[in-house]
Order: sequence, then structure tokens, then C-alpha cells
Amino acid sequence: MAWDSIATIAAKVNAGEVKAVDLVEQSLRTIAEKSSFNAIIATTEDRAKERASQIDAAIAAGESVGRLAGVPFIAKDNFLVFGGETTAASNILRGFEAPYQSTAINRLEAEGAICVAKANLDAFAHGSSTENSDFFTTKNPHDETRVPGGSSGGSAASVVLDLAPFALGTDTGGSIRLPASFTGCVGYKPTYGLVSRSGVVAMASSTDVIGPITTSVEDAAIVLDVISGKDELDSTTIEKDAQGYVVDAPGSLKGKKVGVIKEYMGEGLNPAVKENIVKAIEAMKAAGAEVSEVSLPSLPLALAVYYIVCPAEVSSNLSRYDGQRYGYTKQDAADLNDSYIGSRELGFGKEAKRRIMIGTYVLSSGYYDAYYRKAQTVRTKLINEFAAAFEQYDVLVGPTAPDIAFKIGENAEDPLQMYLTDIMTVAVNLVGVPAISIPAGTIQDMPVGFQIIGKQRSDRELLAIAAQTEAIL
Ligand code: GLN
Repeated sequence: MAWDSIATIAAKVNAGEVKAVDLVEQSLRTIAEKSSFNAIIATTEDRAKERASQIDAAIAAGESVGRLAGVPFIAKDNFLVFGGETTAASNILRGFEAPYQSTAINRLEAEGAICVAKANLDAFAHGSSTENSDFFTTKNPHDETRVPGGSSGGSAASVVLDLAPFALGTDTGGSIRLPASFTGCVGYKPTYGLVSRSGVVAMASSTDVIGPITTSVEDAAIVLDVISGKDELDSTTIEKDAQGYVVDAPGSLKGKKVGVIKEYMGEGLNPAVKENIVKAIEAMKAAGAEVSEVSLPSLPLALAVYYIVCPAEVSSNLSRYDGQRYGYTKQDAADLNDSYIGSRELGFGKEAKRRIMIGTYVLSSGYYDAYYRKAQTVRTKLINEFAAAFEQYDVLVGPTAPDIAFKIGENAEDPLQMYLTDIMTVAVNLVGVPAISIPAGTIQDMPVGFQIIGKQRSDRELLAIAAQTEAIL
């Protein structure tokens, strides 16, 4: 691995042993060397170098810079960041420069971290492979013929390609965990509301969360510690854990109650993936965890619920892109109406249009009760089933995805097949609980992800259990 742990990098920078400008240089050089993977949409080179010089100057002057001093990172291109465009990988946002930064970016910068680039994603984060990007498809670092997962595929590939020590992603239905699973890194989806959504291009506001993609659980915890907590710019935010998320003492799995999700271990799961997952579970057991099977009977409905609730919210959130306020506008429009319609027709890709149509349909009068209300009712059932399970278990476990990364193009023309990739991740978002994907070996040289799910606001405990599991795997 090309980078030290985040804590080590920051300590060296703060001690004056390593210069922030050199770290930024290293990151930008690696981005250029590995550009064929298409992980990056654009760098924020000028601003990154300027910030690095300021940080080095501050340290030379004896000032303290922060817990992430000089640490380069990469943001998914749906975060508003200064120093370049924010496109969400959609044509309709091309040319848009953010007038303010997202809270998560501001908090990282306040601790001395430096954003060096914007990563590729499925346009507006709709997708599981980055193939819906209006720019290009990111290639899996382990096999260039395969997808990196999505929608935060550029962020996950960046971390695995050593472009930076960490990246930020968003997870609305699995978009942090799935690419982490497909590329072999750590992806953390916090409790809903733990990280401010202010300044992040909205997808489905009731399930959108922001989280770190890293090479270790320890690094994920530090980043979460910095970006989490109440923010007056996002009324859904909650207080962070009083003790924070960085766990110093290595704990133990002894006596931890682990529930293996029955519905995730059966039909549809690649048997080779299952073997790796069973091995991970056996390792937890050997380390003293009390493991048993748990059933959440409504889980098989979660994907259907998600693909009603999510498009409903997407159709609402995308209504603001009318060609007048941000980015792209249709040239030579006959009148204002033609400008609205034409800008949306030309600016949105296929998947965004599909979701706008499904979303407006399920919300329309006459269909609202049949689809949207019913979906929300089942969502409540899911919330109750998870709550009941967490009365018995500390964490629930299973695979992150039913299979390894698929081939580029394999599912591109079949949206239903693509949606099925999310079958093991979406319930967590509907319920609002935290979850993590950590590497659990490989099959055919491709990574497999092990998912650990915690109860609401148990992020600190979940990260501790994940760190212990990572250590024994
Ligand atoms: N793949 C899922 C979707 O297409 C999840 C996307 C996400 O989490 N942003 O909706």
C-alpha cells in the first residue's frame, strides 16, 4: 500500500517530517499515472496545491493544523467542492461551479485534509456500476473488463488504486458498500442523519447518507469522527456519539451476539461468495462471538419498496434542474417552455428519466395508495423487524452483494438485473441503520465484501466490531 494510515500521515505532517505539498504531489502524480481506469472526472489541482502550501506554512510557523493535516482525499463528484465543477456525472450539470461547499468537505478541511480530485459516479448516483455516468465507465482496479460497482465506483477505485488515502461517497441504496465490496476496500454507511447532507446533490432524501471509503476500518472511523454530528444546514442531522468513533483499545468479539441474516444466505447468492461469507462468520465464532441465524421475513420485499420510494424522491429532487439555474441550458430554445423541456431532454440521461417517470407515476393521484403508500407501509414493517432483531443481536451479518463484480456491459441494457445487485444493501437505507462492507477474501481473484449491520446510532460499537472482524480476517 502506498499510503500510511490517516493518523500516521497527519502525525508526520504535524511533526514537520512530511510536507503536505509532497503528499498532494504524490496523489496528483498517481492520478495521472492511473488515468486509464477512469476513476477521476477532474482534479482540483490548483486549490489543492495552494491549501497544501498554506498548511506547510502554518506548521512551519508552529501552528497546529488538525487531525487530518495534509491528508489528500477524493470526493465523489456529487459533493459541492470549490476549485472546479460539480457535475454529479450528469450532462445537465456540466459547467456548474458550486457557490458553497458541502458541510462534510468543510469539516475535513477544518482538520487539514485536502481535496485533490472529484471521482466518477453513476449520474446523480443512480446505479450500481458507474456505467450510468455521462462521462465514462470506471474500470475495476482488479480487472479492467469489470465494473467497480456503483454508484461511488470512482471513489472506491480511487482508494484501491492508491490515488489518495481515502475518499468520500454517498449511499442511498448501497452506493458506498457495493463498490467497496467489488473493489476490495472498506465502505462505511453511517446511521441516517449522522453526517450532514448539506451541499451534496440530493438523490433520495430519506435514505441519502454520506460516508468514508478507506483501506481500513480505523481510517473510516477517523473520517467519520470528523464529518459527523449536528449541522444547522441539515435539519435531519443528529448529535455524534459523545465518545466519538475512534476506538483506541482493541476490543474483543467475545460474547458479541451476531445474527446471520437468513434471507441473504439463500437463493441468488453465488455459492463461491457464500463460502467466503461462511468463513468470515466462522472466524467471528472462533473469536468468541455467539452466532445464530436470524430471519427478517419482509427482507425479500425491500428491493421493491426501495424502487418505489427512491424514484419518488428522485423525481422530486430532480425537478430543480430546469436548465435555468445550474449548468446546462438548451441553446436556441424557442421560448421558456421549450428551454425547460429541451434542457431536461438533452441534459438528463436514460436512468434519470426512467426514475422521473417511475417516481411521478407512483406519486400520482390514483396510484399513490397502490404504490407509494403501500411501499411506506412495508418500510415500517422492515423498520420493526430490524428493531426486533436488534433486541437480540449486537450486529447482523451477511454478504454485501450476491456476487463479485460483473463485466462492463453485462447488465447495462437490463435495468432490472442491475437493480438486483442492490438486493442486500437497500434495506439498510430504508431502515436508516448503519452498515459496513469489509473485504472477505477473493474468488477468481475478485474481492468479496462482508456486510456488518448495526442498530441505529450504534456506529461506535459497529466500527469496533468491524475492526475486530477485519483483524481476524
Ligand atoms: N444502486 C442503487 C440505485 O441505483 C443505489 C444507488 C445509491 O446508493 N446511490 O438506486
